[in-house]
Amino acid sequence: MSATAQRPSSRGRGAPAAAHGNFIAGEWKPAASGRTFENRNPADRDDLVGTFADSGPEDVERAVAAAREAFPRWRALPAPKRGEILFRAAEILVRRKEDFARDMTREMGKVLAETRGDVQEAIDMTYYMAGEGRRQFGQTTPSELQSKFQMSVRMPVGIAGLITPWNFPMAIPSWKMMPGLILGNTVVIKPATDTPLSVVNLIHALEEAGIPKGVVNMVTGGGSEVGAPLMGHKDVGIVSFTGSTGVGRKVSEACAPAFKHCHLEMGGKNIIMVMDDAQLDLAVDGAIWGGFGTSGQRCTAASRVAVHKKVYREFVDRFVERARALKVGDGLDESVQMGPCISEAQRRTVEGYVKVGRDEGARLLCGGHRLESGELGRGWFHEPTIFGDCDPRMRVAVEEIFGPVVSVIPVGSLEEAVTVGNNVEYGLSASIYTQDINKAFTAMRDMYTGIFYVNAPTIGAETHLPFGGTKNTGNGHREACVQALDVFSEWKSIYIDYSGTLQRAQIDTWE
Ligand code: NAD
Repeated sequence: MSATAQRPSSRGRGAPAAAHGNFIAGEWKPAASGRTFENRNPADRDDLVGTFADSGPEDVERAVAAAREAFPRWRALPAPKRGEILFRAAEILVRRKEDFARDMTREMGKVLAETRGDVQEAIDMTYYMAGEGRRQFGQTTPSELQSKFQMSVRMPVGIAGLITPWNFPMAIPSWKMMPGLILGNTVVIKPATDTPLSVVNLIHALEEAGIPKGVVNMVTGGGSEVGAPLMGHKDVGIVSFTGSTGVGRKVSEACAPAFKHCHLEMGGKNIIMVMDDAQLDLAVDGAIWGGFGTSGQRCTAASRVAVHKKVYREFVDRFVERARALKVGDGLDESVQMGPCISEAQRRTVEGYVKVGRDEGARLLCGGHRLESGELGRGWFHEPTIFGDCDPRMRVAVEEIFGPVVSVIPVGSLEEAVTVGNNVEYGLSASIYTQDINKAFTAMRDMYTGIFYVNAPTIGAETHLPFGGTKNTGNGHREACVQALDVFSEWKSIYIDYSGTLQRAQIDTWE
């Protein structure tokens, strides 16, 4: 992190609330209807972060028209030149990292260390994809015929419609935007209504970096009002969505009739497996960070911990002690370790699951209540909560809660832990704590997840490895790394016959 990125910032709770429009054809415009919606700080409902355009289909139409018009020129711009614009945007993000992190904490609640990490992920992805301006490698391969050359190249799909969630408000938009742009696609993004400011900030960086008009467009507003018309638009060739599995299914169905490219990153119910030979302090550190980082509101959150019976009691005692000691509060306070839930509705979901767990007979070991005393009463805070002695079939052990609730499941062996780990509808991330390399490799082989960690929690992905999950977490694509390029491009195989004669593949032979 550079010194400039860490400079003190006046941004934060109580800073003036600006009005933000849509970004269409290089201009900031109000919604066609003139309506706006408010974005409030989940740590303090009296703190208005900003107002945003409450858009509808008409705004989507305008944004798609702008993207359509900009596409031929952007596509024709040599990819290394597109990369230079992205590189400049990354440099701007580096300079503004601290401001953007503070804005993010204010709009979605996670603690500053984490929002700095979120902006850093956008920086990493933007640099990485800027570099792809000089790579985007295809293949050349010998022909079976004489005097014939062949190669494969990538082409952009066209207009990319991006629909993003609130828990990684700048990182996830950058995971989609940057690969889309470097390949020559133009983009229309619809951010989550809880976190539009971080996408506004990302777009400001691209604007300042010199992105041409119409290449990037943003329309803010609700899922049905903006997301649905965007994914259903006949001119949108690829839809990239991150969010819940329920909405992802709707996206998949909307894309199917026109055979649109459709990239889905959805829910998770990730597991940490703690073996009897594990370093327990390390495993507890991992379970605390994996379970309660971002208040458990990560697709990769470690919401289940399977612990070998031989160390179960000792692990649980230490885990509960550490969870009880977590400092919960406004993430702008550097000493706070866990922020609020994103909204009143999300906290209600968490409370609902606490009741479900109790009714199912799971043992409530700590937490279980909303936090309302003093300052905390102004936000959507909930205690870090641990259920113990969980049966792996309990709803709290298989359903995504998306809050600070961890279910601990006793197991008798590695094989049982793997069975429990795989026996959910999701397949995003898993991890094992063990000192035995054979156990580590066995689990690595047998867990059917897109991401796997050894002696680390289920979170901590880096931008230069593929990111995504199996089963109901994804639809076979991957975000980040070069794999993201496959989502936003079509391959073209090219054959050049310079023999001057008709040569027929698979029929003519050359002696
Ligand atoms: P969500 O599905 O409610 O919303 C995601 C986006 O879809 C938002 O922009 C929303 O406005 C939009 N949307 C909602 N209804 C829509 C509709 N009918 N048509 C079109 N768009 C619509 O999810 P969320 O609450 O924002 O995020 C939490 C979920 O995201 C969790 O399930 C989490 O696991 C998942 N997630 C997954 C990953 C991953 O990479 N696998 C990463 C982060 C979050």
